Amino acid sequence: MKKINTILIANRGEIASRIIRTCKKMGIKSVAVFSDADRDAPFVQEADVAIYIGESSPTASYLDQDKIISAAQKTGADAIHPGYGFLSENVTFATRCANENLLFIGPNPKAIEAMGSKSAAKTLMSEHKVPIVPGYQGEDQSVARLSKEAETIGYPVLLKATAGGGGKGMRIVNEAKEIEQAIASAQREAKNAFGDDELIVEKYIASGRHIEFQIFGDQHGNAIHLLERECSIQRRYQKVIEESPSSIMNESLRTEMGEAAVKAAKALAYDNAGTVEFIYDDQSGDFYFLEVNTRLQVEHPVTEEITGLDLVQMQIESAQGFPLKITQEEVKGNGYAIEVRLYAEDPANDFLPVTGRVLRFDVPMVEGLRVETAIESGSLISVYYDPMIAKLIVWDETRQGAHRKMQYVLRNLVCLGTTTNQNFLLDLLNHEDFQKGNYDTHFIKNKMQLEASCNTENDFLFHIATILFGWNQREKKRNLLKSIPSGWRNNFNDYQYETFNEGEEEQRVNYRFNEGQFIFPKEENNNIVHLIEATDHSVRFELEGLQYTFQIAQNGNNFFLQNESIGTKALVQKNRFPVKEIEKVQGGYEAPMPSQIIKVLVAEGQGVKEGDALIVLSSMKMENTIYADADGTVEEVYATEGSNVEANFLLLKLK
Ligand code: ADP
Repeated sequence: MKKINTILIANRGEIASRIIRTCKKMGIKSVAVFSDADRDAPFVQEADVAIYIGESSPTASYLDQDKIISAAQKTGADAIHPGYGFLSENVTFATRCANENLLFIGPNPKAIEAMGSKSAAKTLMSEHKVPIVPGYQGEDQSVARLSKEAETIGYPVLLKATAGGGGKGMRIVNEAKEIEQAIASAQREAKNAFGDDELIVEKYIASGRHIEFQIFGDQHGNAIHLLERECSIQRRYQKVIEESPSSIMNESLRTEMGEAAVKAAKALAYDNAGTVEFIYDDQSGDFYFLEVNTRLQVEHPVTEEITGLDLVQMQIESAQGFPLKITQEEVKGNGYAIEVRLYAEDPANDFLPVTGRVLRFDVPMVEGLRVETAIESGSLISVYYDPMIAKLIVWDETRQGAHRKMQYVLRNLVCLGTTTNQNFLLDLLNHEDFQKGNYDTHFIKNKMQLEASCNTENDFLFHIATILFGWNQREKKRNLLKSIPSGWRNNFNDYQYETFNEGEEEQRVNYRFNEGQFIFPKEENNNIVHLIEATDHSVRFELEGLQYTFQIAQNGNNFFLQNESIGTKALVQKNRFPVKEIEKVQGGYEAPMPSQIIKVLVAEGQGVKEGDALIVLSSMKMENTIYADADGTVEEVYATEGSNVEANFLLLKLK
């Protein structure tokens, strides 16, 4: 047994903060490592010691093993907690730690290695009688063999990267004629993401639920499970909501799945925190092993909330060689917990991640709410890392009660300054089928309205709030003719106005300030608005006897608004003094967001057909392919592989 006095956290963001918290509780000194982009981040301040390890790009810092090991040595750390992502499931790193006499807080390297490949994992699990998804996980990777296996399994099938994770390199193939292209693109994505293009083929479970079991093992051969989490609410194979208990669970299924999970743990001589993921077939009621995540999961708080256990503490104890303190029989679930992931992303635009500064971040006080966040007001969501802003976790005695609390939290959370999925999460929570537990992994795709809400009913209120806010800001800055209110006109009939851009359209809103009140004419009505209070981040006004409070953040012409009962909205106000619009290049293709150029697939002079892939970009852990939207010839290519570009960078031109 080796005692831990100092832990270096080889990670960043919310999970670094989370681990530091338990270190403090256990009287252990914590060391944060940070990149340029994170110099000001909360986790850096929270740690006892913080040490700079390099540039913002993960390969230059959080993924650089040499730098992390030398940071641990320099700061006298005796253990490393890898968090999730980055080096957490890297066998080489875990082994190096051991060689350098640093405790790696995670399972033994052999277990990591065994689960690092989806094909080896499936083979091992089926040897240990854990049910696996019917499919092919062999060495022959020829297109002919993969296609033949797909035929045998029966369409639809799912292609997965053997080295995969995060849904990358996954392709659903519905029929034989799609398979060749799907194999090529899955291989390319896998190669880019993992440096390995090996694939497995699986039966595609058309209506499945993602149910995973938290497992825990010690170095003395004990292994238990800590109940399930249901993570079926996903987009792009990535979890959005996690909850426990699962609404489909009953005691006998829980026992059966739990036993399978423990079997998986024992097969690996598992000795730390891990997760066994299953897919549950809604139609047949069968469940199949998907994979073991050999690390602490993003959604571990859900389990902590219902079991009352501190998984990070258990990890630290286990790494020191202590035996598990609880038995399977002692594991009891209490109540219900749900976690939602608040992301900087645009649900109306295929959930593309967005960057930007979160100008304001204020979480309401709610009993049973736990917030795990990487940011504070003013933090930048950068292009370098995952765009998760926060995890919001709520506990209650009942599922319904917890849902109600979460709805309240999402209505009252103030997170302004960039596009987020806050409204979308609220819509999810409000969905009747979600509340009833009636969903599968396709719920978001099949049941949610994703286009920017065409509900314009409340736009008038948002417009009023923005105008009053701007008016007050100008009023405060003015030092000329102070006695005359801003917008005063000689000609009384002249309205002031602001114009808002709504996608392609413009909306003009007239108003007038007169004798201490505002008039907003709309459809024959002269709406009288009283501005009651305005601050640098809010306005409160009264319209027809009702008071409205809006929280507002402004970034140039962009206004981000939030009201408890009508939600959030971003508005773009047209410049009062128009600036020259940047002209779009004809036939030009631009980067949709700040990205790294992964691959340029075409050359100048080359003919392309509509739908051909042109360029592969990567941003915030996500790959994004630019396709030709018409037939043509490549006129010029401006993108170079490996370079980083800003949003709207002109990548290439087609003729
Ligand atoms: P990754 O390692 O990339 O996260 P997983 O194997 O864990 O990949 O699968 C991610 C998600 O993809 C699952 O949660 C599930 O929603 C879906 N999925 C995986 N395998 C299947 C399958 N055979 N049929 C249907 N959906 C699947």
